[in-house]
Order: sequence, then C-alpha cells, then structure tokens
Amino acid sequence: MRKGKFLTYMALGVVGGFLAGGFLPELSLKTAFIGELFLNALKMVVLPLIIVSIASAILNMKTIEKFKSVGVRALLYYTMTTSIAVAIGIITVILIKPGVGFSLNGDSSFNREMSFSLKELLTNLLPPNLFKALVDFNVLGIIVATMLFSLAVLSIKWEEKPLLHKLISELDASILKLTGWIINFAPLGIFSLIAAKVASIGGAKAIVPLLISLGKYVLTVLLALGIHAFLILPAIYYFFIRKNPYAYIGKVKEALITAFATASSSATLPVTLKEVVGSGVKKTVAEFTLPLGATINMDGTALYEAVAVIFIAESYGINLELTHYLIIFLTATLAAIGAAGIPEAGLVTMVLVLQSVGIPVEGIGIILAVDWFLDRCRTAVNVLGDTIGAAVISHGLEEVKNGRVSP
Ligand code: ASP
Repeated sequence: MRKGKFLTYMALGVVGGFLAGGFLPELSLKTAFIGELFLNALKMVVLPLIIVSIASAILNMKTIEKFKSVGVRALLYYTMTTSIAVAIGIITVILIKPGVGFSLNGDSSFNREMSFSLKELLTNLLPPNLFKALVDFNVLGIIVATMLFSLAVLSIKWEEKPLLHKLISELDASILKLTGWIINFAPLGIFSLIAAKVASIGGAKAIVPLLISLGKYVLTVLLALGIHAFLILPAIYYFFIRKNPYAYIGKVKEALITAFATASSSATLPVTLKEVVGSGVKKTVAEFTLPLGATINMDGTALYEAVAVIFIAESYGINLELTHYLIIFLTATLAAIGAAGIPEAGLVTMVLVLQSVGIPVEGIGIILAVDWFLDRCRTAVNVLGDTIGAAVISHGLEEVKNGRVSP
C-alpha cells in the first residue's frame, strides 16, 4: 500500500475511533476484540523483536569500541532530553498553578498497595530467571541480559563469522517481515482500540464533563508536552542534523499515531523500528537505540510525572520549596526510566516521586479519571523522543566516520 494512502487510513482510524466510541458505544464495545487482536499481534512480536534486534545490532557493530560510542551517545542524549522535558513540565505547572483552588474528589478505586522503589528498579536490571523475566515483561532486565550475551559473542575472536551471527541476522529479517504484515492492520486496530476506550468511559457524554472538571490540569500537561514535542525536540534535531525536523516527524507519523492508540511504547516498537529505518536512519543504530529508548527514554512520562505530582501537591494545599522541586526533578527522571513501556506504567512509578517529597500517595486518585487520555499523549511524546534520538545518534556516528568531527 502507498505510504500517503496508509497515513490517511491511520488518521481516519483515529478520528473514526473517537466518533464511533462517542456515538456508537455498544457497537464499539462489541468490536473491541479487533483492537485487542491487533495489540496481541504487536505484543507477540515485541519481545523476540527486542532480543533479536539488540543482539543483531551489537553483533553488526563488529567492535566493542563501536558499541561503546553508540551506547555512550544514547545515554547522553537520553539524559539531556529527559532533563529538559522535566524542567519544562516543572516550569509550566509553576506558571499555570492548575491545582490551586482545585477541590479534591478523587477516585476511591485507587490501589493503595501500589509500590515502586529505587531498589526494585536496580534489582530488575539483572533478572535471576530469564524465563520469569520474559513472562513478567521485565524488558529492562531482558535488554541487559541480551546486551551482556551479545557482548560476550562480540568479544570472542572467532576464526570465521560465527553461525550465531548469521542465525540472528536471519531471525531479525524474518521478524521485521512479520512486523510489516501486522502493521498493515494498524488503521483497523487503531480505530477499534480508540473506539472501545472512549465507549468504555461512557461515550461522548462522559468525555466533556471529565475534561472540564480536570481541564486546567489536562491543558497544563498538554501544553508542556506540546512545547517539548513541537519546539524542543525539533530544535535538538535541527541543532545536530541541520535538516527540517518536521519533515522527519512526518516520516515517523505512523509510529506516533500507534503510540497514541496503544498507550504503549513497547507495543509500538515494531512500528517505530520500521518507520525509523525506513526514513533513512542506520539500521544498526535504530535496532540498538530504539528498544533501549522505548524502555528507558521517556521524555513524556518524566514531564508528566513532574506536572502531576506538583498538581497533586497544590490540590492538597502543600507548599513546595526549591529543594522539593529539585527532588521532583531527579525522582521524576528516575521514575520515567523505571516505567515500563506499557499503558499507565507512569502512574505506578509516580509513587516514588510522591513519596520522595512526602505527598500522600492516594493523591494519584485525583488524576485517574483523565489518565487514559494523558497516557496516550505522553506515550506519543516518548516515542517521538526515541525516533529523534535514533536520528541524532546515527547522524553523529556518520559525522565521525566521515572525519567531520572527532569521536
Ligand atoms: N504508557 C507509557 C509508555 O508506554 C508509559 C507511561 O505510563 O507513562 O511509554
């Protein structure tokens, strides 16, 4: 199918999904299984895709030095952009003060047992049981294990190219092929996912009052996400690559729409990878940085956590001081790294940020009602951050290779 035409179908999927969910809720709920099938298909390929693409990317780098240069660049890029995102969130919420005067009437269904700790984040890095890590979807642990294994293969002096390398390359190509088939169903899947979500919260009647009651908070998050997505990230792209960032964003639009529809960076990964490689970014760089980015580089989540926590503090009438803002800055960054690329994961890791400044964890109940929507928006920004990161890192390595800059 031609790319332009496909995009039109994707856009129709989003708009149609909102309309169907709003005005034909029963039908949307009955056909929800179509969206679930699409999501299942994406989830079915995502773990093999992560393992094989990271292994293949590392083996294709051929030397440990090359791996280090990509890895260091990726980590520097992620730290820089996530910090900027959190700063934008904090500044926007301080200026708008959406929580001042907000009356607390949260959702009592909030689970008080929710927990997330720094220790958990660290210990998950090395899974003691690989099969359990796969079942638990501990993507960070799986990435670390895959990286360690691939580095071991890379560091052995083989007489000739190891069979393993060939096998992994073949698996990689085959999984990407399968991914392509699944993506062909994206417009239909997206339509059904959005329609079912809107219908499940009560259709068109329910959306407007919900957005009005928490409107100022929703607008603050959207404004901050918008500044990061449409001004900061494009500026970073232009600063490093000197090309039109919006043209690049246009090329990866399908990944952004899928992120919005699925609310999951991990489920979107197959689409992101296909789009980014299709837009000309080096495959080795994309295959290494995108799975890593989908797991640890979450600009949208970091920004959102900072805004949400300060909003909750304001609605409790808690006065925050400069040191509190600094702690929120650091913990929101960590909480975003720790959040899995699945729907509403940011809500769980937000516990860490709330506790670090002594705000009651139950405060999360206030924002639950609109989180389904904000989750989709921040996921799209997370994925945008990953796509721009892959392009910037790939471009930097080309410059080094061509001798234009030193490594
Ligand atoms: N849903 C987000 C993602 O997959 C994570 C979050 O809840 O913020 O990127």
